Amino acid sequence: MQELVSLFAFVYGAAIASFLDVVSERAVNHGPLTGRSHCPACGKKLLWWELVPIFSWLWLLGKCSQCRVLIPQRHLFEELGLGLLFGFSAWQIISDSSGAGEFTLLFFVLISFSGLALAFFADFRFYIIPDSAWITAVVGATGLVALRAFDVIEQRLLPPAFSQAGLGILLAVVFLAVFAMVSRGAWMGWGDVKLAVALGALVGYPLILFSLAFSFILGAFVGLALVMLRAKTLKQTIPFGPFLIIPPVVMYFVPEIWLRNLLAFFLFSN
Ligand SMILES: [Zn+2]
Repeated sequence: MQELVSLFAFVYGAAIASFLDVVSERAVNHGPLTGRSHCPACGKKLLWWELVPIFSWLWLLGKCSQCRVLIPQRHLFEELGLGLLFGFSAWQIISDSSGAGEFTLLFFVLISFSGLALAFFADFRFYIIPDSAWITAVVGATGLVALRAFDVIEQRLLPPAFSQAGLGILLAVVFLAVFAMVSRGAWMGWGDVKLAVALGALVGYPLILFSLAFSFILGAFVGLALVMLRAKTLKQTIPFGPFLIIPPVVMYFVPEIWLRNLLAFFLFSN
């Protein structure tokens, strides 16, 4: 059953990646939700098999079958990335003895990750975090915290307890809001501050402190690397949302003992 559910989650993740890509475009352009049903260059109507995620891209070698215009590689990476993320989530959560509790847990994890993926795609491409993205992630996180609060699932570090989630939100929002205010939106936008509500709820206190620290380290390294590779200048900004999103998602996958060791090392008795 674990294999089947994981495979299904992979296919589902790959399928909604192309949907989220369109949603992120729409959040910026306010255009209609047309999807990928037509080639953007020649207008050729895509056949059903040309809409199958991943496989269609590989089969067409990333080109439109009529005009040969390049289909952005972004689609392949988004579909593979979200497919793997969803597939691994299912693999970790579901086992052959899983009941309704684990399936509900997986459901809310995938809701949260869908919201985060939308924020990731939109911020990466358009430097915007749509309200629909962080709100979806908050809905998922609320479900996760509720599952734990009502003892539906086994008690672990993640998802956090209700009080930890509350404190996590408070810390993350205040911390990023200070950055946004001091820099007047140059280092940190208000979209990042809204996103912090979801991140604080997902990992809670004290893990949110480490999550934010990792985000800043990651952002600094990548920013520096881009400047050194001359892909960006010091004055150009890179979107910070993706760096905020990666650590909390990773925390849902690393072994619990690593997180506990991390907390113990910094003297958080947990
Ligand atoms: Zn075409």
